[in-house]
Amino acid sequence: MTLSSHDVDHLRRCVALAREALAAGDQPFGSLLVAATGEVLFEDRNRVAGGDATRHPEFEICRWAAAHLSPAARAAATVYTSGEHCAMCSAAHGWVGLGRIVFATSSGQLTGWLREWDAPSSPVAALPIAQVVPGVVAEGPVSDFEPEMRALYRQCFAPA
Ligand code: ZN
Repeated sequence: MTLSSHDVDHLRRCVALAREALAAGDQPFGSLLVAATGEVLFEDRNRVAGGDATRHPEFEICRWAAAHLSPAARAAATVYTSGEHCAMCSAAHGWVGLGRIVFATSSGQLTGWLREWDAPSSPVAALPIAQVVPGVVAEGPVSDFEPEMRALYRQCFAPA
């Protein structure tokens, strides 16, 4: 896995969005959609606190991309995210035809931490992106972000 300094900067923004989400009473996940030119097209954070558990930022990115980008522009774009796509968001990513994904922490890591903390597990199987959309290039996790994301997850899912 070779990440550029731009990749790392975009991931840092995703982690900041995750932190924002947690501060707003939501779950700590944040994502960016970046065009082939390097321009950030769209960003969002988790918005499930209102009761709609499908309001994941990766899913919002798919909807935005379907409405605003040509199929070629979607395929050339990269999605950055603080936590690896869930199966729902991976499937939406595949259906919409988006390109590369870079994630800071993996679904496997989150599942392991939830187990370690005795926190409730996700109702959806934690399938890796590669298992849902085998044609998509997915890179991660990135160890530099692990301590910070682990701490945010812990505050959310296993508060002291
Ligand atoms: Zn999701």
